Amino acid sequence: MTMSGFQEQDIKAGWEAILGDDRYRLIIADTAANYPEKKSVTVSYKDIEAYDIDFALNVLEYPDLFIAKGKETIKASLPPTWDGKREVNLRIVELPRDAKVDIRHLRSKHLGKLVAVEGLVRKATSVRPRMTHALFRCARCNAEMWEEQKSMILKEPIMCVNAESGCNKQAVRFILDDKQSLYKDTQKVEIQESPEGLRGGAQPERLSGYVEDDISGAITAGNRVTMNGIIRSVEKPERDKTTVFEIYIDVMSVEFEQHEYDDIQITEEDEEQILAMSRDPALFERIVASISPTIFGMDEVKSAIALQLFGGCHKEMDDKTSIRGDIHILLVGDPGVAKSQILRYMSLLAPRGIYASGKSASAAGLTAAAVKDDFGDGRWTLEAGALVLADKGLACIDELDKMTTQDRSSLHEAMESQRISVAKAGITATLQCRCSMLAAANPKFGRFETENMGTLNEQIDLPPALMSRFDLLFVLTDRPDRVKDAELSSHILGVHRRGEIRQMAEGAAIDGIDAEAIWESTKGVKPFYDVEILRKYVAYSKRIVPVMSDAATRIIQDSYLKIRDMGRADGTITITARQLEALVRLSEASARLRLNRVVEESDAKRAVGLVEYYLSEFASSNGGLWDMSAIDSNYTKRDRDRNKTVMRIIDMFGSSDGISLEEILVHASNDGMTDDEVKKILRNLATEGMLFNPRADMYKRA
Ligand code: ADP
Ligand code: MG
Repeated sequence: MTMSGFQEQDIKAGWEAILGDDRYRLIIADTAANYPEKKSVTVSYKDIEAYDIDFALNVLEYPDLFIAKGKETIKASLPPTWDGKREVNLRIVELPRDAKVDIRHLRSKHLGKLVAVEGLVRKATSVRPRMTHALFRCARCNAEMWEEQKSMILKEPIMCVNAESGCNKQAVRFILDDKQSLYKDTQKVEIQESPEGLRGGAQPERLSGYVEDDISGAITAGNRVTMNGIIRSVEKPERDKTTVFEIYIDVMSVEFEQHEYDDIQITEEDEEQILAMSRDPALFERIVASISPTIFGMDEVKSAIALQLFGGCHKEMDDKTSIRGDIHILLVGDPGVAKSQILRYMSLLAPRGIYASGKSASAAGLTAAAVKDDFGDGRWTLEAGALVLADKGLACIDELDKMTTQDRSSLHEAMESQRISVAKAGITATLQCRCSMLAAANPKFGRFETENMGTLNEQIDLPPALMSRFDLLFVLTDRPDRVKDAELSSHILGVHRRGEIRQMAEGAAIDGIDAEAIWESTKGVKPFYDVEILRKYVAYSKRIVPVMSDAATRIIQDSYLKIRDMGRADGTITITARQLEALVRLSEASARLRLNRVVEESDAKRAVGLVEYYLSEFASSNGGLWDMSAIDSNYTKRDRDRNKTVMRIIDMFGSSDGISLEEILVHASNDGMTDDEVKKILRNLATEGMLFNPRADMYKRA
């Protein structure tokens, strides 16, 4: 009897029955014929279950024993000339629901058990060989000895096998033949819990996995996988004598996600509810009312975010180029205007939402990196950053202005092409980051300056190329405003009172507190749709690919031309083709939100309304100018004009010694420029090498 209650011969008989099926016989024959291109026989758990449920359950309970026996059965059906050192793997896939364990629920009882763990691949090392069978030769008599290698430390023979030579009685040296020894490819990966399982904002837990042989290299950072394997333990490396063990999964097979949003289960009842929601004429307002309802106001921001959740259509063109459908939004604003709060909320609401800060400590940063650290035991590891982990989801990036220099240079490319390429030290990989990005940034000097403010670019510490990748950019300022302040404070106080009452025991009463009245008056703080159904709705909507109607196309074009015209007179670039594309994406998202196959007039108008709103807000924070070059380049039209004015003053009034600052200020003030402004321009022109200072406060053309 074995521990499992199955006799050895029962196990053997079981595998013979399962693998004796024609399908598996063919697979085994094919593997033998194509070895080593093919090295594994993959068996569905369903076939094991179909043979005998008890047997199948025992495979999960005692996988080491059962799989070893299964491999023996495979070996027995290989041709008689087969070299016993050439291993054929038995890999089991499609484990039952009961075998699925969340990383955070792995316990000692799972040790040695076959389980299925789902997650996102955060790290994957490069593939390297590990010696499985070492060939040694006796230094005295040259006798060959094979030694099976099971651990990281090379195991040598204890004595020579050659009885005649007499060396088996003496201490001899053995020479390793590393060319003829046998190797297996190996890879180490780290997965983290998928955000879907992490409602409530818990930190995702992680698990290392060891992948061997033909399936190494199949996994790359950013993949969503199910790893089927045996949970094992290793001593924690930092202390040498310890009873605390680290667990890992000895990966037996890997399954990739088959369909988009496989992880979001939509039942028939859900579908009915979703279709009913889509017919509600107040749907859009109700979705907006479900976005961070504890936050007061910000209706346009919330509308924009609602559209972002749904997104426009990703397009593949005839020439193989593609156009992104994902909508990127940037919130820049004073501290304490609830930017972070909105981002956190959206990372929980959106399917595959990830929240990360620009100044995160991870080496991968926001994109991806190849790193050499403890994880890889000396080999290079590819590590996925937030945008890769948010593939097909929403990346909520807070404090974007604090990101690393590496991210600064690569992020805009990642946002546009939605791919990140890493080529470093033998790792070359292209990672997908088909996500929308909701980012927040603080002004460079802590707060937006309203007095004498320069362009937005001077106030936000972000590269222009990056800023221009955002479809919508909202400037959120916090200015004292009696009416708004009163409303905002009532709202926030209401939120707190409602929160207090939620903590009260059912039916409890407190003297002087009308809990019922407070509860009623703060109803609006409850999301209209709960997060579960809204997330399902969003996932469901992605099946719909809307097409623009003639009417919608016309509205978008008219709006674009109208805004372009505003700048024609003085050569200002009010809007670029990038904003035109933003209009398209937003209208598509609006149609998709209604589960409608056609982008209609109302959708185009909604998009136009948002873009015009943001441009006008943006203009008011930019001295009233509708000037896109404020985010697309270092200078706006106004800057360029003023730079010219200052240079002209220097040319006209300066002597061969130059011109004093005082004199420049006098002339410039006639042109309506303030002293601070002129000083700033002089500084900039000097840094750019257009001017120099022969003496303090003297300027001369370079
Ligand atoms: P930021 O990231 O913009 O600096 P936070 O998200 O940290 O700001 O918000 C600061 C606090 O102020 C939060 O607790 C938030 O709830 C509150 N707050 C700010 N603006 C609003 C608002 N419009 N409605 C409700 N609460 C707000
Ligand atoms: Mg913040």
